[in-house]
Amino acid sequence: MIMDDCIFCKIANKKIPSELLYEDDLVAAFNDINPITPVHVLIVPKKHIESVADMEEADEILAGRLIMVAKKMAEKMGTSEGGYKLLLRVRPDGGQEVPHVHMHLLGGGKMLENIKVV
Ligand code: AMP
Ligand code: ZN
Repeated sequence: MIMDDCIFCKIANKKIPSELLYEDDLVAAFNDINPITPVHVLIVPKKHIESVADMEEADEILAGRLIMVAKKMAEKMGTSEGGYKLLLRVRPDGGQEVPHVHMHLLGGGKMLENIKVV
């Protein structure tokens, strides 16, 4: 369930000191260490799942929880009214660098799109 060598397992399960913005039985939220927008929060499962591609039917409640917590975090961070972006990168071609599911909540200003296949 928790991987010893996974940084997001450690943060979400409070194995290392860090500031959780939110936690419940299934997920935790914390600030991205290298924010690309004024609001940049990561919402992650407490259990280790490498990517959305590795989620199973039994993870349906968890999948819904990630979105609902992102919505609540957007309200808490003051970016709900103006709007925000939710981003899930999946596996290397999707640009995923940390192999533990994480939803990016990006907000705090109007964002451009720049998605290209290279
Ligand atoms: P992705 O490219 O979607 O896998 O995004 C990984 C994100 O994790 C990047 O935005 C990183 O800045 C962020 N990140 C990596 N290590 C940490 C950490 N220790 N604490 C918070 N955010 C992190
Ligand atoms: Zn993990």
